[in-house]
Formats: sequence, C-alpha cells, structure tokens
Amino acid sequence: MPTLGCSVQNCVNNEGGFCGANTIIVDGEEAYTSSQTQCETYRPETLTNAFKAMVNTNFPGEIAQIFSSREEILITPEVECTARNCFYNANNRCEARNIMIVENRENEMKNQCETFLDNH
Ligand code: SF4
Ligand code: SF4
Repeated sequence: MPTLGCSVQNCVNNEGGFCGANTIIVDGEEAYTSSQTQCETYRPETLTNAFKAMVNTNFPGEIAQIFSSREEILITPEVECTARNCFYNANNRCEARNIMIVENRENEMKNQCETFLDNH
C-alpha cells in the first residue's frame, strides 16, 4: 500500500501533513504533467464537510499515527487514480511506493499529484 504525504493544509482530510481518508481518488485521464492531475477527494475545511468526511476517515490509521514517530507514515489511504499516462498507474490503481499531493494554486481543486511520472 502506498504511503501518502499531503501539503494541502486546508483540506478537511489533512492531518498534520498526512491524509486521513480511507480512500482517495486522483483524477487525470488526460494528464501529461503533475499539474493536470488533482485529488478529487479534496474538500475545503468547513464544519459541514468535516461531518461528511467522517464516513471516509481512516480512524485506526489516525490513532496509529498519534503513537508513531513523524518519520513513520502509518496513514495509508487506498489510492484510485485515472491518470492512465502515469508510469505508476496499473488499472486505475496507484502502484507508487510514496505519493505526494501538493498545492496547485492555478487548479480549481487547488492540488495535484507531484509523484506523476509521464510514461511516454
Ligand atoms: S487533498 Fe487529497 S490527499 Fe490531501 S488531505 Fe485532502 S483528500 Fe487527502
Ligand atoms: S503517482 Fe501516478 S498513478 Fe499514483 S496517484 Fe499520482 S498520478 Fe496517480
């Protein structure tokens, strides 16, 4: 299962630089660069979204994270991904060992998969 770090601080699923969701979906069917991908599971932090996000929260992972050192990334969401041009994509699942989602201010969803690698 890939490890995942995320710098999108205002996402409701962001727990101190890690993603607390059970599953995330990365979108990028036509992507040829990182900036053309985006985490569809991103939701800006509001009270309503916080309640909605609870059904997709990896609570055991979050508790494990509290008792681990910062070097160990124990929150490991399932990553579904449509970026078929990415080297790490295998039948819409991500096979990268480490994934980094970072901010993209020009993208409507305000994030992108930095780990995207063009397989052409
Ligand atoms: S932007 Fe995506 S990867 Fe980052 S915390 Fe939110 S749901 Fe998780
Ligand atoms: S590394 Fe590639 S396959 Fe994995 S989530 Fe990012 S774009 Fe998708």
